[in-house]
Amino acid sequence: MREQSKLIRSQTTRSSNREHSVPLYLTSSFVFDNAEHGRAMFADEVEGNLYSRYSNPNTSEFINKIVEMEGAEAGLAFASGMAAVFASIAGLLRSGDHIVAFRSVFGSTHQLFTQLLPRWGITTTYVDASKPEYFEKALRPETKMVFLETPSNPGLELVDLEWLGRLKKKHNFILNVDNCFATPYLQKPIEYGADLVSHSATKYMDGQGRVLGGVVVGRADLMKELMFFIRHTGPAMSAFNAWTISKSLETLTLRMDRHCSNALKVAEALEKNQEVEEVRYPHLPSHPQYELAKRQMKQGGGVVTFTVKGGFERAKIFMDELKMILLTPNLGDSRSIATHPASTTHSKLSDEERAQIGIYPGTIRISVGLEDLDDILEDIFTALKNSI
Ligand SMILES: *Cc1c(COP(=O)(O)O)cnc(C)c1O
Repeated sequence: MREQSKLIRSQTTRSSNREHSVPLYLTSSFVFDNAEHGRAMFADEVEGNLYSRYSNPNTSEFINKIVEMEGAEAGLAFASGMAAVFASIAGLLRSGDHIVAFRSVFGSTHQLFTQLLPRWGITTTYVDASKPEYFEKALRPETKMVFLETPSNPGLELVDLEWLGRLKKKHNFILNVDNCFATPYLQKPIEYGADLVSHSATKYMDGQGRVLGGVVVGRADLMKELMFFIRHTGPAMSAFNAWTISKSLETLTLRMDRHCSNALKVAEALEKNQEVEEVRYPHLPSHPQYELAKRQMKQGGGVVTFTVKGGFERAKIFMDELKMILLTPNLGDSRSIATHPASTTHSKLSDEERAQIGIYPGTIRISVGLEDLDDILEDIFTALKNSI
């Protein structure tokens, strides 16, 4: 079967009730056939479900879909995207290890690198990824991992995955990519040599702003080490969330096509507007890495970032003038969302740090939803006009 069909048709074994749609397995533990089976399960001699902190039919189904899509060997599901990102680092590194990371990372990932991991002796060096050579310059003998997001949030800067895949062949590090913004439909980092791919499933995978979730997929040996970490620290995804997200994946590619076509039209229209200073969208020819975006991403994604003339004061009026689009710190929802990164998701950074990653006082991030394009455009451009 091809990708879209697999997303719809892969499911856990049908029970004796012969259900068509996958049922929700709300059970903490699973029954052993007999005492010998219990011993063998705990000794890892046989496969199967034992306890829902370890595995559950709903989480396994969800994981299998992402493993297939990303072209990975194995995967694990988590309670949230941050639990996934944290485990993909803390489950593999130890005190004294060093990370080289693209400086434009998700807000909580930034707190993890700068405030939390140093407590356990894991340090991070940030690099500007406009030239991939910067990653090589920052490598040290103790560098165990290179971590990045592409495209980044909210600056929509890209990292050249092919170049990094080649760098990895020369140096021995784990290449860990947060692929949340692109989804495996638009971009498959493992094809370029990534060892691990993490996601916040809260975003496009659920796609309707209902549940939190995370997933890490990649090399089987690394997943085995991570499995040990999560079994004994407990950040497992709930069966309910796995069931919800697995159902949503049936429409992932359809939804992404619409997110992307709406977002491209919004970006093109914003670029023509006098009140807008700068528009960022990977598949706009004016994007500084347009060629790379065309090569690396099937479509430009669902997020558009732009900067209004007149700074924060103007941005505030614009956001308060929006009628349909609401202000909330999420993205990847079927409903369009507006966010002001400098005062919310990236408020912990200094003005200088923000400017380096393309966030100015007048910058607004729109997660373009699935509504009728004309309604989205009308809301944005009426609010822009009323903010003058
Ligand atoms: C939202 C997000 C996360 C964190 O995911 P949660 O599910 O909110 O914990 C991590 N990385 C990126 C790029 C995100 O957008």
